Amino acid sequence: MGNGNRTDPNKRKREKESAGRRLAVALVLLLLIGAFYLWISGSPAITGIRESLTGSQEEAPADEQTISDTGSSAEAVDPDALPEFAGEHYVRVNGGVPALPDDAYERAGYTQGGKGPVSETGKVWSVSRKDITPYEYYGELDKLGRCTVAYGCLGDETMPPEGTDRGDISGIHPSGWARAQNWERCHLIAWALSAENANERNLITGTHYLNYDGMRPLEEETEHYIWDTGNHVLYMARPVYSGDELIARGVQLTGQSVEDGGKGISFNVYLFNVTPGAEINYYNGIVTTEEQAAQEPRAYVVNTRSGVFHYPSCEGARSIHKKNRKDVTATRKELTDQGYVPCGYCEP
Ligand SMILES: [Zn+2]
Repeated sequence: MGNGNRTDPNKRKREKESAGRRLAVALVLLLLIGAFYLWISGSPAITGIRESLTGSQEEAPADEQTISDTGSSAEAVDPDALPEFAGEHYVRVNGGVPALPDDAYERAGYTQGGKGPVSETGKVWSVSRKDITPYEYYGELDKLGRCTVAYGCLGDETMPPEGTDRGDISGIHPSGWARAQNWERCHLIAWALSAENANERNLITGTHYLNYDGMRPLEEETEHYIWDTGNHVLYMARPVYSGDELIARGVQLTGQSVEDGGKGISFNVYLFNVTPGAEINYYNGIVTTEEQAAQEPRAYVVNTRSGVFHYPSCEGARSIHKKNRKDVTATRKELTDQGYVPCGYCEP
């Protein structure tokens, strides 16, 4: 919070002592107001998440209240206390009010002050139309090879030109990628918004539920808004990991339209990287569906050297050297629990 204290230097000299006392009183008051402010501004965000978790939130995130001009820092996603999936694609973050890193505003031409959006650190930003700068930023992979964050000021300039086809992204194996598990290469910033194809800093291992059901409606809303208005959208996608896991538990997605101060686009959500009913190992990407978990024991062939298991009919099973081949009767779950990995071809 800024303050508006302005004192004429000469006057201050003459009244040094009493001014000092007044200053002390003012400071105490400011602190009290500040504390109260943090207390009341923190509550709606927490309430928002609680509401979402209990499933009482139905409205589309774009209908959220738009810009707050408070100076408190934003409610962030805490990797140590991630929300539990409760049947909804997402829960709101910061009460649904967009808040990005300071850098995201700076790169877009915003400067501090005014009555614009509030960043994650609690700074207030504003931009004049002539200074709006489209860009895309993709954070470096971390030491585990995981995507970190992607953000940008998206607009016609960053979108693929009309008639462009999507490029091949099959060469990218995002962290935690496992074949035969129906994983999708999930863009942090959608191709339709960024024209990014095989960018390893922009592709994560995601479920169809996250990629298609969770992220896509918000991506399309953003895309259509840009088409319709020619305006820009400040946009961020940040995967959230639990500890050293290689696959994100979810993605924080936030967007705010620039020219109209969030009237057209305004959302800040945490989307779950889950498949309802399935159990996911976020270290190695092995997914166990409900049917697989309930499966009766059956015949599999294990390659004890590679740790891969097959259906007996698989070409890969037949070519295993005798000394590495183990025929077992087991459930798929028993094998994956022992650390064996389903073959990528026969997809047992
Ligand atoms: Zn196989």
